[in-house]
Formats: sequence, structure tokens, C-alpha cells
Amino acid sequence: MPELPEVETVVRTLRPRLQGRRILSVDVAAPAAVGGQAAAFVRAVAGTRVTGLRRRAKLVLIDLDSGGTLAVHLKMTGRLLIKSEHEPHRHDRVRLGLDSGDILVFADMRTFGSLRHFPPGGLESWPFYRDLGPEPLGMAEAEFVDRLVGRNSAVKALLLDQTVVVGIGNIYADESLFRARIHPAARASSLTPARLRRLFAAVQAVLTQAIAENGSSIRDYLDAEGNAGGFQNSFKVYGKKGEPCPVCRAELQATKVAGRTSTFCPQCQKGEVPAGRKGGRSKR
Ligand SMILES: [Zn+2]
Repeated sequence: MPELPEVETVVRTLRPRLQGRRILSVDVAAPAAVGGQAAAFVRAVAGTRVTGLRRRAKLVLIDLDSGGTLAVHLKMTGRLLIKSEHEPHRHDRVRLGLDSGDILVFADMRTFGSLRHFPPGGLESWPFYRDLGPEPLGMAEAEFVDRLVGRNSAVKALLLDQTVVVGIGNIYADESLFRARIHPAARASSLTPARLRRLFAAVQAVLTQAIAENGSSIRDYLDAEGNAGGFQNSFKVYGKKGEPCPVCRAELQATKVAGRTSTFCPQCQKGEVPAGRKGGRSKR
């Protein structure tokens, strides 16, 4: 599932070819992808001009000169692709023809993603949008610490909770926890503010590096020009169960936290062991 760096990369690759363009034609191949009301979607979007592109959490937001906004949630396998030539494909859900001759395609092999139109003010009253937590690259360190400190949940579950902090999924949670040397199942309440500050620094460093490397391509993710990202080559632990830790050479292990496979180093991340297990502090 695309996380913050992948969605940011999609926005950055779309912007030069979409900003300022007028949408001349709207073809909805899958009404469910636009919320079920295909005719209303076409009426609202056809003829508008794109005034800006933004990312909020894992959403691509396309602002229109009507005051409305298109909100794209890629979910598992959704893609936004901009093409100069395009043969319709069976996974295409929505095609927007632009005055440049380009076609913006929302494709989704599975059907969890969506491309919805919100009239002026509508986005802000969408409950999903309203409940989103702060951006990890835009929030203060003190707010991050405040949101986690003393909480009884596993620290990884809180990183994945989009009402606590947005944009972080399984990849960037595992990579950040490894860099901060924190066990994914550690209760947030077992971590001192100093360790939470170290985690915040790790989250920001990992996301910043991943954006610089155009996101991570595992399975489906491609940017709007159809190019793969590069950060998968910089993974330290994600998906590497059984391989040696890049720091201490111990064998990386995997466990389930918040229902998600979580890969970690049993040596580097052994402090603050989960509730119910007896264990000493790490030597740091
Ligand atoms: Zn290690």
C-alpha cells in the first residue's frame, strides 16, 4: 500500500503535467470508484481547470477552479498515471482527458481505491478527512511525543493509526523503529520522552530519505510517469526476516503487531519488551 513517500512522489510527478490543465473529457468505467454517482461526477468535473495538487496523509488532492477537489486514495493497488497515449485497459476506473492531449488514468487492479469529487467545503466535512492526525514532516516534536507518551498501545500500532499521525504504514513504521532501536511491540507507556524524541527523528529521517528516493516499489507501486521508486534498496529490516541485521549481524525476526508482520532485530531492538514478557533493559 502506498504510504506518504509514494503518494508525495505521485503528486510531484503529476504536478508538471496536470497543473493548469483543463479537463475536457471524463470517462468513468467503474462508477464505484467515484462513489457510485457517475453522471454527477462527470457533470462536476468536466470542463474544470486544475489549479493545484497537494498531498494530505495518503491522499492525492487535485484542486479545481470550480472550488471543488478530487481526492484520490490509492489504497492497495491504485495508480494515477499520466500518459500521452493510452489504450483503455481493463483495470482503468476513471480516465480524464486534458487540453494538453494527455490522459490522466486512475487504474486499480483490485477495487479498494477511490477517486472522489468533493464540492467546495465538502472535503473538510468528510469524516475520514476530518479525523486525520498531523503530518509527520510538518508537526512539532513536542506534539509527536504528547500523542504517544503514556499510551498503553504498542508503539507500532500508534504509528500506524492515522488519527495519531498520518502517512506511516508498515514499511516506514518498521524502518523507523529499527533506526530508533525500539521494539515494535513495546508499549508507548514504557518509552521515555527522550526515546520518543529519538523515534520522531527516525520517522522524519526515514520519510525524508524515502521521498528523495521516490518512494518504495514493492509489488505494485509506480509514480505517475510509470517509474519505480528506489527506497526498497535502502530497507534495513522491512521484509528481511532471516537476514542478518545490518548493524549487529543478529538474525532479523518477525512478529505480528497490530495485525501486521513486523520485522525487527532482537539485539538492537530488545529494550522495553512487550507487556507480559519478562525482560531486562537493553544495555543502552
Ligand atoms: Zn541488530
